[in-house]
Formats: sequence, C-alpha cells, structure tokens
Amino acid sequence: TQQQSSKKKMDEPTLIGITCSKAEDLSEWYQQVILKGEMLEFTDIPGCYIYQPASYRIWEFIQAFFNDRIRKMKVKNCYFPLFITEANLQREKDHIEGFAAEVAWVTHGGKNKLEKRLAVRPTSETAMYSFYAKKIRSHRDLPLKLNQWNNVVRWEFKHPMPFLRSREFLWQEGHTAHMTEEEAGKEVLEILDHYAAIYEDLLAVPVIKGRKTKEEQFPGAHYTTTLEGFIPSVGRGIQAATSHCLGQHFAKMFDITVEDPNQQIKDGQARDKLHVWQNSWGFTTRSIGVMVLIHGDDKGLITPPRVAEVQVVIIPVGVTAKMADADKQNLYDEVDKLRQTLEDVDVRVECDYREGYNVGYKFNDWEMKGVPLRLEFGPKDAAKGIVTTSRRDQSGSKGEIPVTDIATEVPKLLETIQKDMFQKASDEYAAHRKVVRGWADFVPTLNEKNLVLAPSCTTEECEKQIKKDSAGNVEGQEVDEKAPSMGAKTLCIPFEQPEGIEEGQKCINPKCEEKAVKWVLYGRSY
Ligand code: AMP
Repeated sequence: TQQQSSKKKMDEPTLIGITCSKAEDLSEWYQQVILKGEMLEFTDIPGCYIYQPASYRIWEFIQAFFNDRIRKMKVKNCYFPLFITEANLQREKDHIEGFAAEVAWVTHGGKNKLEKRLAVRPTSETAMYSFYAKKIRSHRDLPLKLNQWNNVVRWEFKHPMPFLRSREFLWQEGHTAHMTEEEAGKEVLEILDHYAAIYEDLLAVPVIKGRKTKEEQFPGAHYTTTLEGFIPSVGRGIQAATSHCLGQHFAKMFDITVEDPNQQIKDGQARDKLHVWQNSWGFTTRSIGVMVLIHGDDKGLITPPRVAEVQVVIIPVGVTAKMADADKQNLYDEVDKLRQTLEDVDVRVECDYREGYNVGYKFNDWEMKGVPLRLEFGPKDAAKGIVTTSRRDQSGSKGEIPVTDIATEVPKLLETIQKDMFQKASDEYAAHRKVVRGWADFVPTLNEKNLVLAPSCTTEECEKQIKKDSAGNVEGQEVDEKAPSMGAKTLCIPFEQPEGIEEGQKCINPKCEEKAVKWVLYGRSY
C-alpha cells in the first residue's frame, strides 16, 4: 500500500528541509529557503550572487511579459557599455551626489594605472545621453524610446541581502525622450502600470502606487513614481520598482535639444531650441526576493503558477517492492500519458520517477522547491479514473480530478491558485496599512508591524524629523525584540488616498505647525 511504500527504509536518503520557522527568524528562514530551493548561491564576494536556473527562469518570465508590453509602446531594446567616464557621470549635479557613495571604479587595466578611472554603471543615464544628444536632431526624432536589459553595480554600504539589496543586480532600464512634459508624464504612469502588472499578475504580490517625496526621489529626477510592497512577517515596506520623470535636467546638461516646431518665425530668424523631456524607469531582480518573502512558508518556496518553471509535478504513488514489473510499467505509462495531455495544453510538467526515494521524500522535496500543484497517481487512482491533487499554497488541501478532465481542470486549478495567492497577500497588506491621525498612535502602530497612513505637510524637514522620532522603541510600549527599530521613512504619497484631508487637519509631526496636504504612507523599510 501507499503507507507501506512511504515507510522509510534504512538506505533511503533523508531530506533536510527548512529547519527554522518563518515567524521565528525571517532572515535565517529566507536564507535556507533560497539556498535549499536552489534559487541562489552565495559567492566569495559579499552582495554578489549566483542566480540558479530556478530564479533565472522567473526573471525570463518577467522579461517576456515586460518586453511584450513595452514593444506595444514602441520601445526598442538595445545595449550600452558597462563603463562610464568620470566626466560624463558628473554631468548632472544631483545625480552624482546621489550615487557617489556607491560607485565602483576601474582604476587599472592589467598592470597599468588608467589615466582616467572609469565608473561601473550604477544606472545608465550618463552613459546614454551623449548618444541621445547626437541621435535627436529634430522634433521628428521624438519620441526616442530605448530600453536595455543589463546588470548594474551599486556598492551599497547597507548590509546586502540576496535579491533585495545586492551590489550587482540585473534589471531593465528604459530611457525615453519626449517633446512635451505631458507626453513624458503619461508614459511614466503607463510604465508604472506595467510594473504593477508584473508584481500583481505574475508574482501575485500586491503593491501600492504613489509618488516619492522630494527627499526620497531618484537623484536628478523631476519626480519619481513608485510601487511600494510589504513584507508582513517583519512589517516592513519595500520599494518594488520606480518610474521617473527626469524633466529637462539631463537634457540641459547633455544638450539634448530640438528646434521648436510650433514657433512662428520671421525671415532669417533662427528657431528657438527646446530641451527634451526625459524619463527613466527600472525593474530589478529584487522582485524575486519579494515574491519569496511574501509567499514562502515553513516548508519552503511557494511559486505562483504563472512564473513557476514546473507548475505541476506528477508523482507515481503506491509503488511497492512487491509490485510486478509489468504493473509498475503500466502505471508509469499512464503517468506519462497524463504528462503528455498536460503538456499539450501548455502546462509545465515534471514527473518524479526517481527510484530509491520514498514518496514522503519526494513530496517534501517538491514542496521545498515551491511547485504550486502536485498530482499523485497510483493503482487506486487508476482504478477510480482520477488523479489526486495537492495544492502547495493550501498545505494539505487535497482534491480529485477525473483523468478525462485534466486538460481543462488542471489549468483552471493553477489559475485559482494564482488568484488565491494574490488575494491572501492582498488581504494581509490591506490589514497592515493603518490610518493614523495622531502622533501618539504613530510609533505603537509601526511596532505592531504595520505601515502607517498619516496626514502630512510633505516637507523635507518633517520627513527627517519623523524618521528620527520614530526610531527606537517608545517608552512603556511592549515591543517585539525582533522587530526593526529604525525610523520610519516616507514610502510614498499614494495615488489612491484613503480619504480627503479634512479642513484644518494638521501634519502628523507634533513639532510641525503646517497644515496637512496629503495622506502619506510611512513605514520601516528594507
Ligand atoms: P533606481 O534606479 O534607484 O530608481 O532603482 C530602481 C529600482 O531598483 C528600485 O525601485 C528598487 O526596487 C531596485 N533596487 C535598488 N537598489 C537595489 C539593489 N541594491 N538590489 C536590487 N534592487 C535594487
């Protein structure tokens, strides 16, 4: 019977699963889950990681999805060099100030010291825009819309964390130039929508859309729009992706101009030069880490079906030592037919025929790797004409599907899993976004692992004050020792405000006399 076959024999291998719980120690749990799930490996360089096929495949799904979206917007892919001259990097003042502390430099070529050191790109605005100045000759060359999939290096001083904050990371960076602010602004939001779709529709991760405050915006930007995610286990926010309108700052520094096509000109008069409006937008491998942190459980990874390399694993069960070879072969043939049927309807399937591993081992192994749906098929199922299903996202929740219906029912079930995973994460995020009106509730609400929506005057001084005053723990307040005690950042000014700002409502900062103008999302963050 199945029970007998899953009883451990002396020479069978033992699976060492995840040995620590997510609730107890998130960072140890995270490390085990990504290593044992074969997503990532550490190297001898802190902050630089090996993306194993399991995580790289997810990146490829993201690439395919996003490429499809941006091609419809007439964005074209291209590639620019890894290195930037110091002169170019320094062209825009705020930009270099923002990145200076994180730039890695190449100083030598072989044994020879370079006459002029070269920066390894932390982002490519300054690597690309001399070319833009050359390429954009007239208003007819606009809009120019280029994107590249590449790696960038930011030698972060903060503690690196796989996927979330690495020194070298993979991303796409889009760089576009437009005739008008309006046209640029429209694209900024369109891209933000596509980013939100990657998170929500592919990774089943809910995000909040908003605008960054001046203090938190991209160095050199006119304004920054952002997606903000949430890691419930620690109650911390995470910047999920950003889409910037750069305004005309870089155009002025790199002299990217066109002649004004709408100007009425008199004989011999030269047309006025207009600086173009530019955007840049980036989405990184951080997203994969966010997905792991949100969905994983004490058994390991849980991958949403749409980005799972293996969506369904079929495990033959009830195979006993006493079973005749012919019966075993029959069972395996039937399993193979199930595989074929599912592959014919584009389901990504793996069958686990490994000998010498008991069923329990196989279950745990595929669960640890996050495969969203397991099908079990044994002699008893065959006799009944069914397959037994087990959903990874609802531990232990079993069902049955008639063999004749798998081509329609399995894809349906995968979609249900996808939707349920998103709904669960969404409900959790909503439950941890708390509207707070008075300062007395601000830090206690943060300490309960929430993000806070509070009325704010949105000035930089207030932002700094709140960060300072919300650091550490408040007196007389019970706190979770493991909870971060850093100050709360302004994560964003959400586009969707919880409600209007009441007449006379003051800024949440008790030291500020200003009126509130917006609800701002605050939180401790990664
Ligand atoms: P930025 O160009 O600074 O707006 O960065 C674009 C996006 O990259 C941010 O919104 C983050 O989601 C992500 N990001 C920033 N720093 C890192 C890092 N060190 N590792 C991975 N992703 C990052």
